[in-house]
Amino acid sequence: MNEWNIQSRAHACEVCARPFADKQSYRTVLFEEGAELRRSDICEPCAQKAGDARSRAGFISHWQGIFEVPPPMVDAIQKETAETVLRKLIEQNDPHYAPAAYILAVMLERKRILKVKEQITRDGQRVFIYEQPKTGDIFTIADPNNWLSFGVLLFVGLIAGNLAARVRVQADLAAWKPDAVVARTTPGAPLGHFLISLFGRPTVRIGQMLGWRLASH
Ligand SMILES: [Zn+2]
Repeated sequence: MNEWNIQSRAHACEVCARPFADKQSYRTVLFEEGAELRRSDICEPCAQKAGDARSRAGFISHWQGIFEVPPPMVDAIQKETAETVLRKLIEQNDPHYAPAAYILAVMLERKRILKVKEQITRDGQRVFIYEQPKTGDIFTIADPNNWLSFGVLLFVGLIAGNLAARVRVQADLAAWKPDAVVARTTPGAPLGHFLISLFGRPTVRIGQMLGWRLASH
């Protein structure tokens, strides 16, 4: 299975092929097709004719949405936001970006830009199905699980002045000797401040994500 993908909302019903109108309600069904997850967008009348989506083979989840006509191309010139960075990372389809994509998705969820629609387990790995409510796009994002197979050590929090936590971070670094460290924090927050004192200025910064490449190992 490709754990990293974006599936855009259809512009027409998959069953009757009628284009969706602005503000029209529709249903999305998410199901397994072979090794892949696939979404199917259908209009209300077709959904009712089809009966209970849960009886569909490979059913995982379903929900109702309101179609919005996409903005004209002029508006599509986007700023580099955490969301556009996430889209680019997913499009790379490179496992090395898995930790960064996962952290960005968590960040965007906290900012309510993405919503978790479903959480499933595939081959022992947690996979989150996120929706961008405005565009209806679905982001499939797997928790990298074994972060160290990427040579990356992830930190997500450190309580101010917590000596035990600092000792723990240093013990983890010494034990794992990661190629890179990624943290969901900012330079001013206790964790960011502490990591900067260890590694200097972050190599990358995307919003609240800081990363350091550790060349010395
Ligand atoms: Zn239809």
